[in-house]
Amino acid sequence: MQPLTRLSPEEELFRSTVARFARERLAPHVRQMDEAGVFRPDLLAALFELGLMGINIPEGFGGQDGTFFQSVLAIEELARVDPSASVIVDVQNTLCNAAVLQWGTADQKSRYLPKLAKDTTASYALSEAGSGSDAFALATLARQDGDCFRLTGRKLWITNAAEAGLFLVFATIDASAGYKGITAFLIERGTPGLSVGKKEDKLGIRASSTCEVILDDCRVPRENLLGEAGKGYKIAIETLNEGRIGIGAQMTGLAQAALDHALAYARERKQFGKAIAEFQGVQFELAEMAVDVEAARLLVYNAARLRDAGLPFLTEAAMAKYFASQIAERVASRAVEVLGGVGFTKDYPVEKLYRDAKIGRIYEGTSNMQRMTIAKQLLSR
Ligand SMILES: Cc1cc2nc3c(=O)[nH]c(=O)nc-3n(C[C@H](O)[C@H](O)[C@H](O)COP(=O)(O)OP(=O)(O)OC[C@H]3O[C@@H](n4cnc5c(N)ncnc54)[C@H](O)[C@@H]3O)c2cc1C
Repeated sequence: MQPLTRLSPEEELFRSTVARFARERLAPHVRQMDEAGVFRPDLLAALFELGLMGINIPEGFGGQDGTFFQSVLAIEELARVDPSASVIVDVQNTLCNAAVLQWGTADQKSRYLPKLAKDTTASYALSEAGSGSDAFALATLARQDGDCFRLTGRKLWITNAAEAGLFLVFATIDASAGYKGITAFLIERGTPGLSVGKKEDKLGIRASSTCEVILDDCRVPRENLLGEAGKGYKIAIETLNEGRIGIGAQMTGLAQAALDHALAYARERKQFGKAIAEFQGVQFELAEMAVDVEAARLLVYNAARLRDAGLPFLTEAAMAKYFASQIAERVASRAVEVLGGVGFTKDYPVEKLYRDAKIGRIYEGTSNMQRMTIAKQLLSR
C-alpha cells in the first residue's frame, strides 16, 4: 500500500514540470497581473502548450490522458505561485472538460475536446444573482423552438468568462418543474445573443476573470444540449462534487506557499541579535502552520485518489474543500504575522495569498454548504 503523499515517478515528473513552469514563467508576472486584474494571454497560451488545460482529455483528442490526481497536482502547484492561474486550470479540467467527457455525445466530444485541449478556455455558468447556494433556483429560461432552444437570462460570477471560447450554461426548460427542469447547454462564444458583461473588481484571485454572462434570446441548436433535457442538475451536482477537490488542492497549494515564505523570512530576519526562527514563539507558529498544510493535503489527496479508484468520495471531497479553505486563510494570516510589517505590504507575496485565500470558503459551495453535505452523510448512515 502506497502512502497517500508518495508520488509515482510519473506523478513526480508531472508535478515538477508544473512547478518549474510556475516558478520560471508565471512567478515574474504575478504581482503585475494581480494589480491589473488581468491574466496575460501569453501565459494562458503557455498553459495550453504545457497541456495543463487538457490534463483529463484523452490523447486521441489532443489531451494528456492524465488522472484526476494529476489535475489536483497541477492545481496545487500553480496555486503555490498564483492561485489565479490555478483556478483557470481547475475550472477547465475539473468542471468543463469533465462534463463534456462524461456527458458529451460522440459528436460533441469530437467537436469540443480537441479545442479545449488546444486553445479554447471554458466557463462553467451556473450561478445567478438570485441563485448561489440555492443553485437550482436558477431563472435562466431555455425555450424550445423547433430544433433549437432560445435561452434568456443572466449568469453571474462566471470564472474565465473574459477569455472563454466555450460556455457550459445551465438553464431551465420548465421553471415549474424545479430542479427537474435544469438542462445544460454548450454555447460557443460569438453565438448571437450571448455576451460577456461586467467584470468584477475583486479582493483576491484578481487575475482570474469573473464576469456576468448575458443570454438574450440566444439560439442554441439541439445538438448542443449536454446530457439529457431536465437532467442538467445531475451534471451540476456530479461535476461540483469533483470540482471541490480541485478547490481543496488550490487552497492547499496557497497555504504551502504562505508557509514557505514564512519559513524563508524567519530564517533571515534578525531581531534581538538572532534570526526570529530561533524564537520558540515563532517556531510554534511555523509548526502549527505545517500541521495544517499536511492535514489539508492528506484530505485532498485521499479524496482525489478515491475518485480515481472509482470509490465513493462525496463526503471526503466536501471535507477536503471545507478544511483546506479554512486552513488556507489561517496559514496565510499567520504568514503575514511572521513577516511582521513587511507582510502587510505588497512588496512581499503573503498579503496577496491572504486576500486570495478568502474565495476558497465561498465558491463551488460555501463552507456552510460543505458542512451541510458532511452532516447529511453522517446522519444518513
Ligand atoms: C470569484 C468568484 C468566482 C466564481 N466562479 C463561479 C463560476 O465559475 N461559475 C458559477 O456558476 N459560479 C461561480 N461563482 C459563484 C459562487 O459559486 C457563489 O458565489 C457561491 O455559491 C455562493 O453563492 P452566493 O454568492 O449567492 O451566496 P449566498 O448563497 O447568498 O450565501 C450567502 C451566505 O449565506 C449562507 N447560506 C446560504 N444558504 C444557506 C443555508 N441553507 N444554510 C446555511 N447557510 C446558508 C452561505 O453559506 C453564505 O455564507 C463564483 C463566485 C466568486 C466570488
